[in-house]
Amino acid sequence: MNVGYGRQKIAEAIAEQARNLAYCHAYVGHGTEANITLSKMIIDRASEGMSRVYYGMSGSDANETNIKLIWYYNNVLGRPEKKIISRQHGYHGSGVMTSSLTGLAAFHQAFDLPRAPILHTEAPYYFRREYCSMSEEQFATHCAEKLEELILAEAPDTVAAFIGESVLGTGGIVPPPATYWEKIQAVLAKYDILLVADEVVTGLGRLGTMSDSDHYGMKPDLITIAKSLTST
Ligand SMILES: *Cc1c(COP(=O)(O)O)cnc(C)c1O
Repeated sequence: MNVGYGRQKIAEAIAEQARNLAYCHAYVGHGTEANITLSKMIIDRASEGMSRVYYGMSGSDANETNIKLIWYYNNVLGRPEKKIISRQHGYHGSGVMTSSLTGLAAFHQAFDLPRAPILHTEAPYYFRREYCSMSEEQFATHCAEKLEELILAEAPDTVAAFIGESVLGTGGIVPPPATYWEKIQAVLAKYDILLVADEVVTGLGRLGTMSDSDHYGMKPDLITIAKSLTST
């Protein structure tokens, strides 16, 4: 989708792959030339430190998988409680857990969501902030303080991860206020909390860099990509 519609070269490549091998699962150590090649291409374009690719069917599915990976990782470390923090106005998908991560009331009402153990913190929504006198930098500091308050109220060792879109998508198409990611990441580092960058909308070139994390100086532990690959 990012390179436009009706590209003959791409249509031919899809047809050629369908003639060659239409499907093969990628579990228990299996791979095919196509998914191995694609994995290499993704890693080459991802931000520094990324080394593994796991395929799903959609952005929602990928975020659900990332939640499971976070819980698994914390089980290995013997940490029984694993809360995940997302933001008001965030959007992370349409599954049970990813709708819960979403911070928009319309996706919760009538669905008995959000489910525990998911918590929401201040949206990085500078233009709708309550405190009109703040500069962008002051508002970013305020968001980081709110995050720290929430972590302390829950007890830091019960918080496993923080998930955020580099730029709020469904929740308003809002870039973060200046210094936001720097300040948020300092809080996460202080309490040893994983960062998941949800680059589903914005990844693979839409911010002008292949990885959003490079654009905003983020150092995520996990990245979710989808729309640019799934063509939505
Ligand atoms: C669309 C979206 C998702 C969900 O992706 P689907 O492929 O629609 O399941 C997750 N996160 C963000 C930021 C999105 O915009």
